[in-house]
Amino acid sequence: MALIVQKFGGSSVGDASKIKHVAKRVIETQNAGNQVVVVVSAMGDTTDELIDLAQSVAPDPYASGREMDMLLTAGERISMALLAIAINAQGGKSQSFTGSQAGIITSNKHGDARIAEVTPDRIQEALHAGNIAIVAGFQGFNKETRDITTLGRGGSDTTAVALAAALDADLCEIYSDVDGVYTADPRVIPSAHKLEKIDIESMLELAAAGAKILHIRAVEYARRHGVDLRVRSTFSKDPGTIVYSSNGEHMEEPIVSGVATDKGQAKITIIGIPDEPGKAAEVFRVVAEADSNIDMIVQNNPTGVDVTDRVADISFTLPLGDLGRVAGALEGAKATLGFRELEQDADIGKLSVVGAGMRTHSGVSATLFKALADAGINIEMISTSEIRISVVTSSKQLDDAARAVHKAFGLDSDTEATVYAGTGR
Ligand code: ADP
Ligand code: ASP
Ligand code: MG
Repeated sequence: MALIVQKFGGSSVGDASKIKHVAKRVIETQNAGNQVVVVVSAMGDTTDELIDLAQSVAPDPYASGREMDMLLTAGERISMALLAIAINAQGGKSQSFTGSQAGIITSNKHGDARIAEVTPDRIQEALHAGNIAIVAGFQGFNKETRDITTLGRGGSDTTAVALAAALDADLCEIYSDVDGVYTADPRVIPSAHKLEKIDIESMLELAAAGAKILHIRAVEYARRHGVDLRVRSTFSKDPGTIVYSSNGEHMEEPIVSGVATDKGQAKITIIGIPDEPGKAAEVFRVVAEADSNIDMIVQNNPTGVDVTDRVADISFTLPLGDLGRVAGALEGAKATLGFRELEQDADIGKLSVVGAGMRTHSGVSATLFKALADAGINIEMISTSEIRISVVTSSKQLDDAARAVHKAFGLDSDTEATVYAGTGR
């Protein structure tokens, strides 16, 4: 008997008829002779709506981090119970569990807690009793504070992978509103095509570059614990995409697996900072103290008449939501840092091309830059890794840039990708 963990995202449980459909699919999986653990997200855009609601009672609801987690975990609690009710009504046998009942033990950082330990005793008991076990995604419990936590937006994927690892599941299936992992977001590029398989390193880079089909922390967790993933649609029988551990087998030929875009980034440029050893360290200490994770960094060639008054400009990208806080912290340290001016840019987009074996093939960068030049798109920053090249453009040009690059790498398909549900919010 195999043990399968199946995670259904918000659009898969968006309304009553979809919940009944998921119930039917899950019962079929059990009837085929499997033990089934189901992880669910909140219905549709519930999480966003709860955040909107919180913002309507307070300008900065995240100041009450504990309460925001109490609020947001309610979303998954609704969908888990409704799914269990639907399964039971269809003649199946199931029980639902909150994250804490399922033994998801986390750090106490509200809104972005890390999984510390998974003790799924109650899930195992439920399975042994012949139940389909339903678990609320995205939530956990901190032992010290005895409070409920959440794992960050999109965190239900991570709940599923963590449970699959702890239960030593045979497979972890992530069900969403598209048929699998595509060469680009099919909402932005309808000519994107579905990948039959993708190595986990490339998947990690795609997720890091903004392809929200899988939560990056779920991919990291799967890689560390050797969990096999299958990404597929709730609304079709398509076998989806297998995410496999690469073992370096494809590293010789450059395989461009896909193009990802991210509009959730912003850029800060510090103009006229003294060109002295230690200045960059001071800048990024201030950024770190403001609790932000930066991504790309560029420093220009210092200019000035003689060595003593040479100044440089430093630009870096960071999550859009951190922009005000980090800019404020840097302005506060202006006197000690000694820079002339600080510029903020909230209208940037990041485009990444991901694929195994890129670094050693200069042709990949040549193709990328030619495609952008032909489309008249200005590049503001560039960064590379072993298997990724990213560029920053203006956010207005990002989707056009993605379409041009997708085409230039020969990734376009003749048929249009199907997006079955969801609002893409
Ligand atoms: P769920 O609610 O099921 O977790 P998400 O909205 O988080 O679903 O993720 C699914 C969405 O991810 C798709 O609808 C699609 O628009 C988007 N997406 C972005 N990049 C990709 C990609 N490379 N392949 C497939 N989907 C992608
Ligand atoms: N409901 C949560 C969110 O919208 C978690 C998830 O869907 O994975 O971020
Ligand atoms: Mg998701």
